[in-house]
Amino acid sequence: MFSRRNFLFQSILGTFGLSFNSCNAKTPNKSTSKMTTKPNSNFKPTVISTWNNGLSANEAAWKVIEVGGKAIDAVEAGVRVVEADPKTTSVGYGGFPDRDGNVTLDACIMDETGNCGSVCFLKHIKHPISVARKVMDNTPHVILAGQGALQFALEQGFEKENLLTPKAKAAWEKWKKESNYHPIINIENHDTIGLLAIDQNGDISGACTTSGLAFKMQGRVGDSPIIGAGLFVDNEVGGATATGMGEAVLKTLGSFLVVELMRQGKTPQEACEEAVMRIVKNQNYKDFQIGYLAIDKQGNYGAYCIHSGFDFAVYQGGKNQLIDSPSYVKS
Ligand code: ASP
Repeated sequence: MFSRRNFLFQSILGTFGLSFNSCNAKTPNKSTSKMTTKPNSNFKPTVISTWNNGLSANEAAWKVIEVGGKAIDAVEAGVRVVEADPKTTSVGYGGFPDRDGNVTLDACIMDETGNCGSVCFLKHIKHPISVARKVMDNTPHVILAGQGALQFALEQGFEKENLLTPKAKAAWEKWKKESNYHPIINIENHDTIGLLAIDQNGDISGACTTSGLAFKMQGRVGDSPIIGAGLFVDNEVGGATATGMGEAVLKTLGSFLVVELMRQGKTPQEACEEAVMRIVKNQNYKDFQIGYLAIDKQGNYGAYCIHSGFDFAVYQGGKNQLIDSPSYVKS
């Protein structure tokens, strides 16, 4: 929701070109992250995320931003909404399992100082993004995988749960009848969430979380928990996130590429287009979907995908809206 306070805040910023010092604001969650060192005085606080699930994620993230909270807390709060939603079959609770019936989750998070944390092949924990956050905040490591990630999560107080919903189990049982493992992306059926936010201090953070490709081989890890592939943030430049066939994103380190292209002067839109073209040039793109989403320091954003059907949600200037991404293949 767009609050009067936020309207006043944005008007003041717009009129006087002032930056907001979040240290003076009430923060809903205590963050252990350091404050940015580079002031940014010309920006729009923004939340942006992949697919239509992004609308509800953006609302939750914005609640943190509008009271002066940090982007890192906002991105975590945002994607948790989708992780907990059993109707979403590519993220968290309710995610489709691998070919052996295991729901295995991948997630990563990155803050404005370049700190990051990740979990992959994590079972039984509904909120992998919060485990990734704990990896970032409470360990000397970046990635924890599998049994080690689960052990760490339990030590940190997370609850062990059955994540396989009746709907996901039924879909897996149906798939097993033919067991045809050929992960052609149904471009209408993706909901991995990547979410980027700029807070009132002008700092950028990002989060990405998924259950990965449905009926994948056991042990498969995609792009989503890999810093630089599914997500990358550089607080001097901007942030990017990816969705779609993770293997193609991994081969091109897509989100890092998008941010580096922005550093070289491309707009978020141009950078997403170039990153998609790198895939289109070298891979058989006809069988799969990729969508990139990017934001720069000012809050300018861009998106591009291979096939039409990728949409994204933007919360900016008091409006939370769903936008269709332009695509390489025009249909
Ligand atoms: N990128 C995710 C993966 O490959 C899937 C998706 O975005 O739908 O695991």
